[in-house]
Amino acid sequence: MLIYTDFVIALIRDIASRVDGLAHIDVRRVAVAAAPRWAGRTWGNLATCIALRGGPTGGGSDESESERAPDGSEGLAGPEGRLSPTDSHEHAETPGAAEFSIWFRGRSKKVIEVSPWRRRVPVRIESDGEPCLYLILLRLPRLLEHNPLETIVHEMLHIGENFDGHLRPLRHGRQFDWLVHQYVRQWLAQADTQTAELAQMKLDELLARGDTIAARRLPARFRPVISIPAVAPYSYEEGVARHYPAYRLARTYRINKGAKASGFTPREVPRTIILDDCPLRLYDAKGSHAMPRAMERYFRQGARPAGLAAMAGAEPPEQLSLLSPDNV
Ligand SMILES: [Zn+2]
Repeated sequence: MLIYTDFVIALIRDIASRVDGLAHIDVRRVAVAAAPRWAGRTWGNLATCIALRGGPTGGGSDESESERAPDGSEGLAGPEGRLSPTDSHEHAETPGAAEFSIWFRGRSKKVIEVSPWRRRVPVRIESDGEPCLYLILLRLPRLLEHNPLETIVHEMLHIGENFDGHLRPLRHGRQFDWLVHQYVRQWLAQADTQTAELAQMKLDELLARGDTIAARRLPARFRPVISIPAVAPYSYEEGVARHYPAYRLARTYRINKGAKASGFTPREVPRTIILDDCPLRLYDAKGSHAMPRAMERYFRQGARPAGLAAMAGAEPPEQLSLLSPDNV
């Protein structure tokens, strides 16, 4: 069995060790997981790199996701509108800073309601007991409809050069693509043949080797950024003046503490994800399936392949055919 997310981790380690421009990546602080099922609407087509540290440029991802309001709403409008700092173009709120939404009345721009103060922080992802600085989400099985190597290097290029939980400020474009091509070529020139082949295989080619393909998938309720209650750093009067300068706070205003109005992330969205506890899914030509429990337990008992070399050489399938719910 090939646990594809583990393979990508090993691949990133190998690429970082051979390509100077990516040598700053410490794979021990990078999480790789298959995206949850619904992720297609929100994230990149094939993969996404998410920065996991709060602060001025943290908590972002390389696709448009970071520019959207946390609840997916598209800003304001209407005679009585709601406005939150993240919806506003003239005011780009930094993740981690305290913020609030306002409700205002039409042309008077009079703020009649405010939400409680909140803060946006990245979800915490732990792997081997350590918090990760980056998450690379793989859209499976779609990623494997093509040669995935370029996409993986593309996501690696998003990782900030200081490896501090922030993304590299380089935007998509010709220079970005050119660097990706260079790094792919540099790596292919040095990689061992078997690993280079495996790294470029599509799902049908992987399956044709006789491998079972699995990946660790994030929970369906996963969100990369969590909105939590915050201590007010100053008064609402000052807050409106700073964050919504075109508006003014009514003398009598209400704090709307309703669950939806507050903008807090619902309780059921995980705040911390232990990657090693995320279930393995099996991927084949028909899609993905839950891994049978016995097989899952077998892999939790430390039977995970150790390194790239072990993965490149297919494991004997007999190891798995011995398993059934009765004898585990
Ligand atoms: Zn990108």
